[in-house]
Amino acid sequence: MLFKPTVWLKNVLQIDKKLLFKYKIKGLILDLDNTLSTHGSPAAEFGVTEWLSALRGLGVKAVVVSNNTAKRVKPLAEELGIGFVAFGCKPLPFGLRKGVKLLGLPKSRVALVGDQILTDVAGGNLYGIKTILVEPFYLEDKPSFRLRRKIESAVFKRDFSKLEKR
Ligand SMILES: [Mg+2]
Repeated sequence: MLFKPTVWLKNVLQIDKKLLFKYKIKGLILDLDNTLSTHGSPAAEFGVTEWLSALRGLGVKAVVVSNNTAKRVKPLAEELGIGFVAFGCKPLPFGLRKGVKLLGLPKSRVALVGDQILTDVAGGNLYGIKTILVEPFYLEDKPSFRLRRKIESAVFKRDFSKLEKR
């Protein structure tokens, strides 16, 4: 199912040792806006830096693949100490393929983490990797975003009844 994530969580901080072990995940492809940081904010959300260090401690690698510009993605990825792909073109596979290459892991051990069903979840599913949907830190106010939320809410209601929710 194109729009159905493997796991649906409140936010990235809930990705812990138990979950990574359960799904045999050794690398994460991370969306940036509303996944690691509020849209447009130069800083990561509270707890994200510590969460990434904990991941490193577990031997889990991470890379950012964002559809946003390098100007937006680079400073934050560098501050977090992880590689990045800008202009990721999700849901198309090109950026995700680059991300997996940067991780140096087989696709089967990689999960994509993001807040958007139509770009992140659909992209990960099209590319054939596990997907972890997180709820956005901040619901955007622009009409285009509001329309997307409406579509996503409809998808949630229809397809997510049996989904693992923690
Ligand atoms: Mg996002």
